[in-house]
Amino acid sequence: MKKILLVAGCLSLLLFACNSRGGSKQKEEVKEPQSATEAVFDNNDYHTLSNANEVLGKHLALDIEVDFKQHSISGTATWDIEKQKAEADKFIVDTRALLIDSIKYGDGTKADFELGEADSILGAPLSISLKPETKQVKIFYRTTKSATALQWLEPAQTFGKKKPFLYTQSESIHARSWIPVQDGPGVRYTYNAKVKVPKGLMALMSAENPQTVSEEGIYEFKMNMPIPAYLMALAVGDIKFQAIDNRTGVYAEPEMLAKAHKEFEEVGAMVHKAEELYGPYRWGRYDILVLPSGFPIGGMENPKLTFCTPTILAGDKSLVNLIAHELAHNWSGNLVTNQTWNDFWLNEGFTIYFERRIMESMMGKDYADMLWEIGYQDLEAVVADLGKESEDTHLRLNLKGRNPDEGLTDIPYEKGGHLLRLIEQTVGRSKMDAFLTKYFNENAFKTMNTRDFTDYLNKNLLNEVTEWKAKVNINEWLYAPGIPRTCPRAGKLRFNKVDTATAQFLKGDMSFSQKTGKWSTFEWMHFLRKLSKTPLSPEQMKALDHTFQLTQTQNSEKADLWYLLALKSKYEPAYPAMEAFLMVTGREKFLQPLYKEMMATSEGATMARAIYKKARPNYHPLTQRVIDEIVK
Ligand SMILES: [Zn+2]
Repeated sequence: MKKILLVAGCLSLLLFACNSRGGSKQKEEVKEPQSATEAVFDNNDYHTLSNANEVLGKHLALDIEVDFKQHSISGTATWDIEKQKAEADKFIVDTRALLIDSIKYGDGTKADFELGEADSILGAPLSISLKPETKQVKIFYRTTKSATALQWLEPAQTFGKKKPFLYTQSESIHARSWIPVQDGPGVRYTYNAKVKVPKGLMALMSAENPQTVSEEGIYEFKMNMPIPAYLMALAVGDIKFQAIDNRTGVYAEPEMLAKAHKEFEEVGAMVHKAEELYGPYRWGRYDILVLPSGFPIGGMENPKLTFCTPTILAGDKSLVNLIAHELAHNWSGNLVTNQTWNDFWLNEGFTIYFERRIMESMMGKDYADMLWEIGYQDLEAVVADLGKESEDTHLRLNLKGRNPDEGLTDIPYEKGGHLLRLIEQTVGRSKMDAFLTKYFNENAFKTMNTRDFTDYLNKNLLNEVTEWKAKVNINEWLYAPGIPRTCPRAGKLRFNKVDTATAQFLKGDMSFSQKTGKWSTFEWMHFLRKLSKTPLSPEQMKALDHTFQLTQTQNSEKADLWYLLALKSKYEPAYPAMEAFLMVTGREKFLQPLYKEMMATSEGATMARAIYKKARPNYHPLTQRVIDEIVK
């Protein structure tokens, strides 16, 4: 997944802070917690109420209908089960806000069940009584308006404005709000599905997908490789397909298809680059679905079909690193999966590293260095925001009793990615790559926890040379706060030029503008972030806007940072464009900093409330929850 929450609120304070890197504690050797009996450090998944260790749901057959009038999915979920303990007499699945109509055994007879009390984070366990011979249970159910995974869009909220749209976002624990399922990342199963939708609409899943619209509105899907519940996905809408090459392609609303196809025309080559790095892509097809703009995150690595935000369609392929990220998840995450959400860095840190290796192989080292530096800035910002002593800055998280979505900060991504970079720099690239290829192969379709990974890393890599373990000092990364002093920094060849331009601009010299023609999105991001340190004068803002038409930019990353700078500098000519941006964009990464900045002043707060009142219906339920906390 490409980041839900950008915890960092105020980048400007942090860009050049050198003192947030750990203080005197760094030299102490950090030990792994010794008490394995401590619940905090055990490997139990506290975010599922299911009993997969006793009775495992091995295969799911879904037969559902999507009702846009009622905003409900209804039908049956049939589970083939396998007892892990002979004496087990219950099959327990997770649910959240599901209505359970009835349950039958495979032979058609009625099964007894009990829907437990609902926990506000985890939902309600559905416990189904088993007979000794039970091999299958069929659950008749419906989703409700409280389904946290589902966003139902009215036609007006789509690009085409003619037909409604539905999509799911199941990570981390939202699959249970549309399917009764053992919803933990450590539990894998295969599935097939039959989905009925209104005629004229196409349905897609994280499975083998259709490429044309079914006349009857009935679609069949199959996922023969075992996946965890957070990778369950469904999208329904006015969607068309266009191939990129014989195994990659793009799905989008007809109005967006040509633009999306152009933006992603190198994705076929990208899959080859990824394979050159860490071995074969194992999922058959790799397609991308471009969602309407309310999609709350950058992208979601649903197997066979990445879901992505339209905000990366910059027109110049400058934001395709997000696709590299989702593609990389087909190794790190989808193939080798974090065992619990406390181990989330094993999904995301590896994926950040892999993403930037793909981008390096496609665009060169200087380009990838910019991604690393932007990432490092994000890391500094999140550590400052959470507090440099905060346990939430440990790579190994402790989310027991909390909503796992709280773990989705930049820490697992950037601190995790930088740890892998340190390992690479310690052992050399060829050993690193051989290690990662072996890691993905040997652990394919399995789960991994932080402790087992440490053992695996030592055994297969770091034990080879005495100094390596001490040099990496992995426990400092996993179990201590802040940014370790050994955290690698990228070369700044291209950003140094931006820094020179920034200094020129601040002296009133606009001659640097002749050199910005070749700037990528990341150079612009660096430039705008750097300028955000202090408010600019109206003349400075005008000069920038006049020269670069920043208020009208179609590049979402640039727009977001420009509007942030406009708010800080009270540059009102940018406000109408910012409002328009907030009305159509649902990506939380962009929304949070803008609403936070507005709420910092009383007049800004008035504006924030007025905009949010209009824009809120366009946002995903999870985004609404987050922005509700900011705009009060
Ligand atoms: Zn990700």
